[in-house]
Amino acid sequence: MVLVPHRSVLAPNYRPLDITLHSGQGVWLTDIHGGRYLDCLAGYSALNFGHSHPRLVAAAQEQVERLTLVSRAFNHDLLLPYAEALTTLTDTETMLPMNTGAEAVETAIKAARKWGYLVKGVPEDHAEIIVAEGSFHGRTTTIISFSTDPAAHAHYGPYTPGFVLVPYDDADAVAAAITPRTVAILVEPIQGEAGVLIPAPTYLPRLRELATANDVLLIVDEVQAGLGRTGWTLDQQRVGVEADLTTLGKALGGGLMPVSAVVGRHDVLSLMTAGTHGSTFGGNPLACRIALEVVAMLDSGEFQQRARAMEGYLGERLDALADEGLLNASRHVGLWAGIDVNPELGLTGRQVCEGLQARGVLAKDTHGSTIRLAPPLVIEPSELEIALDALDDTLHATLG
Ligand SMILES: *Cc1c(COP(=O)(O)O)cnc(C)c1O
Repeated sequence: MVLVPHRSVLAPNYRPLDITLHSGQGVWLTDIHGGRYLDCLAGYSALNFGHSHPRLVAAAQEQVERLTLVSRAFNHDLLLPYAEALTTLTDTETMLPMNTGAEAVETAIKAARKWGYLVKGVPEDHAEIIVAEGSFHGRTTTIISFSTDPAAHAHYGPYTPGFVLVPYDDADAVAAAITPRTVAILVEPIQGEAGVLIPAPTYLPRLRELATANDVLLIVDEVQAGLGRTGWTLDQQRVGVEADLTTLGKALGGGLMPVSAVVGRHDVLSLMTAGTHGSTFGGNPLACRIALEVVAMLDSGEFQQRARAMEGYLGERLDALADEGLLNASRHVGLWAGIDVNPELGLTGRQVCEGLQARGVLAKDTHGSTIRLAPPLVIEPSELEIALDALDDTLHATLG
């Protein structure tokens, strides 16, 4: 039996750090007691532009007073301009707007299955999608059906069939799993929740080749990796790959609201005809206005450039900690890092995050002793130094 507080108004599906936040500006958060903290989680990359970015706040405020929701039953004046802007930014043909990342992934799964039946000729109800162990694509019943994280998966069956699990970063395993019924390969370009696992640079290009050679769609889930985090508009561009469908979310809403989308091939997304798929809030005017601003900000290349410019320093500092034996591994790209704390220090990831909190830095552990660092892309080098000094100090403190 799981013990929960006897009478709580809030379901305990999160165990947050012991802090209550009140306001935020840029990379800084303030708690209800006036304490200031550097945000090194950035809402799992939903806050790539930091808290309350003036351009995003101004756009949202203006739109709130003009028009917020019409539903897709009617057109509004921002939907087509937004679709135009997002497809131009991502160099894709077509987009379909949704709200959360999980909904974008669900949309891509539905589109791929439909393409499999109507175009590829897979027998109805027999489509297979190849997915990777350790993935995180969201929390819906279909998506957690193929999650290998016991916490995300257990006790939520019966599970949705049609997914074939293979190890991550193993293109040969994908090749071996392809059958005439395979409609898609669905992967993250970097596994974020798993601890920022960066596959070999040949992995995604090989999946691209396999997909093309076998008449299979390549779906790349860039909900966390995309939109500047790794120094690129889409992380797949880093390894020269163009997916058939790409899912976007998190940073697309600028941290102001949930905004997601699937972008990609017109011949696939055009199968999503009137009445066959939708969302009450998807593509609403407020979301479009905010996302248009996000697209304009990314179009300048400034934020991607910032992530690239600080990658070297971030890596140097983390590698130094690894060389000292404090970390077992450090993986980083752009302004994104996953570190595995040496278990001999006897520290859980959670305890490291508490140590960071005591030093004015907020971060989040993922599994066991792995911690993810993903500050807003607006962070200044001097602020990144503060964060890394705090990590250095936290880990050294355990040595006594
Ligand atoms: C966060 C995430 C999702 C799910 O997004 P939600 O908005 O929480 O539904 C999907 N895919 C990836 C790669 C993610 O990191």
